[in-house]
Amino acid sequence: MVLKTAHAPALAQDDTAAHSVLQQVFGYAQFRGPQQAVVEHVAQGGDALVLMPTGGGKSLCYQIPAITRQQEGRGTTVVISPLIALMHDQVGALHEAGVSAAFLNSTLSGEEASVVERRMLRGEITLLYAAPERVTTPRFLAQLDAMHEGGKLSLFAIDEVHCVSQWGHDFRPEYRALTVLHQRYPGVPRIALTATADALTREDIVERLQLQDARAFVSSFDRPNIRYTIVEKRDATAQLLRFIAREHEGDAGIVYCQSRKRVEEIAQTLCQQGMDALPYHAGLDARVRQANQDRFLRDEGVVMVATIAFGMGIDKPDVRFVAHLDMPKNIEAYYQETGRAGRDGEAADAWMVYGLQDVVNQRRMIDESPAGEDFKQLLRGKLDALLGLAEAIDCRRVRLLGYFGEVYHAASDAQSALGPGSGACAAKRCGNCDNCLFPAQVWDGTDAARKLLSTIYRVQQSSGIGFGAGHIMDIVRGRKTEKVTQHGHADLSTFGIGAAFSEQQLRSVLRQLIAIDAVSVDAQAFNTLRLTAASRAVLKGDVQVPLRAPSASPSVDRPRRGAGTKASAAKAAAALALDDAAQLRYAALRDWRAEVARAHNLPAYVIFHDATLAAIAQRAPRSADDLQGISGIGIKKLEAYGDEVLRVVGL
Ligand code: ADP
Ligand code: ZN
Repeated sequence: MVLKTAHAPALAQDDTAAHSVLQQVFGYAQFRGPQQAVVEHVAQGGDALVLMPTGGGKSLCYQIPAITRQQEGRGTTVVISPLIALMHDQVGALHEAGVSAAFLNSTLSGEEASVVERRMLRGEITLLYAAPERVTTPRFLAQLDAMHEGGKLSLFAIDEVHCVSQWGHDFRPEYRALTVLHQRYPGVPRIALTATADALTREDIVERLQLQDARAFVSSFDRPNIRYTIVEKRDATAQLLRFIAREHEGDAGIVYCQSRKRVEEIAQTLCQQGMDALPYHAGLDARVRQANQDRFLRDEGVVMVATIAFGMGIDKPDVRFVAHLDMPKNIEAYYQETGRAGRDGEAADAWMVYGLQDVVNQRRMIDESPAGEDFKQLLRGKLDALLGLAEAIDCRRVRLLGYFGEVYHAASDAQSALGPGSGACAAKRCGNCDNCLFPAQVWDGTDAARKLLSTIYRVQQSSGIGFGAGHIMDIVRGRKTEKVTQHGHADLSTFGIGAAFSEQQLRSVLRQLIAIDAVSVDAQAFNTLRLTAASRAVLKGDVQVPLRAPSASPSVDRPRRGAGTKASAAKAAAALALDDAAQLRYAALRDWRAEVARAHNLPAYVIFHDATLAAIAQRAPRSADDLQGISGIGIKKLEAYGDEVLRVVGL
């Protein structure tokens, strides 16, 4: 109680302390979304659970309280993160901003580690990064004990906290042991952060880490600058090449594929096309992986072709596109992966191709997994939600946010940008996804669906065994293939009843039927199609099957953006409409930045973001005063680079 009253008058002061750290250390004018509330709550010693989308600005939520609490003499904040490979850059970024930070992990020699430990014990380090398996060792806990006794253990920040839950998609058993922190140091506040939002995972996190008393801060999961596009897969490689050539030449991007082999193939193809592409998957040697990751982070315009092993914690702000050549296993994974695009807030693309085979593969992986039936059912439900998204003919964003329990509120300009006639449709639209921008032609697939289902039924009846999608479609379309003749399927009453449909139309009907579970794919028996309990309603005509009309032209892959909306690397400059002289300054600044980044062994964006350089180029500063107030220039960077920047723009 005494503590509380003692703290009350300090409230306003805390507020300004946090603000001045935001401005002076990080060079930002304003907090974003719930950042300020989180920072105030944690700076005052409260526990917090922070749910923000990737790119939402989670780091400042613990970095600023760490700094203000250190200023009050409370010592070190321990940041627990699974991302050993990224700690060097995270700490480097803090050093650039003038914050005392260090990491402890296996990349350090014994000697280097003891230097860090000694500094930590003296309370000299504001933010210390370590992986969960290290934090919970007896040796590390003994050091924490010592710091705690000396009043130098300020705060625990647990990053990527969904790793504690097996419902999340990155389960790491070592996170479970982190309960020890709360049990051993109940008075030390904890802030846990994640970009994974589904309710089940959330509850699990709270339970596992005993965060019942933590205040939850949930921000909107909308990423308005990301444009979602999902197209039918035909020739995925060719589609990808067209997409990049049309929209993202020279841009940094990530291409996700399911298998290692595919990753290698695609990376090679992109290189042959003159792109700077690198592979990343768990089968590569750890050193190669690290080297490729470093290249992606440090060089401009690198395309990383990767399995899902790549990406967690990657905070490169200028990733302009994330492409999926294979469908992920659920919406959480899709959202996390696509969220790596456009963290700088500039226009970015999330582009996916998907087809029948994706549906079949994902179903098979679930069926064949050793998990219990309940868990499999849960996984199937999650997959279905993603299929629903892929097949959707309405706004993707509305669906995505709806999945995370959020009702989409359109920004007024997005709404007014809609063409005539949109007012007639009450459905919400974001104006920045393929379905909103280029409304799909819809056709009624109900008749085709019934023809497919009755064929599956008749084939099963006459042959006693099931058949795969290709064969079923051949019968429906009346194609006398060898297999059709051999099994006498040309004699079935449904032979040729759907001759008017193209194979593409039937495929899209089948995908939809699988998505709504009116057809199942038996992975144990050569992917044969079977009817389900839900087939009946479709057969009887009780369920309508509205479908996106397939388009014959390859241009549907990705309708070209209008001029000026291209999400390219030049966007930061374009947004400010730099004139020719400013363009020259911008180019010179980028060259200068590349040199500094190389000398410091850090990614370029850690020195300054593109947007910061563009703002400098536009302002054409002549003195240090002119640099004040440009977003991204804090006191330390002004001191360290101000003169250099003035020299470069004055050349
Ligand atoms: P997350 O960890 O939630 O994915 P980050 O903490 O990496 O996101 O922040 C994403 C980007 O937004 C970073 O480049 C960061 O510098 C920037 N950022 C965060 N907060 C602010 C703010 N208040 N003002 C301006 N930029 C911000
Ligand atoms: Zn939309």
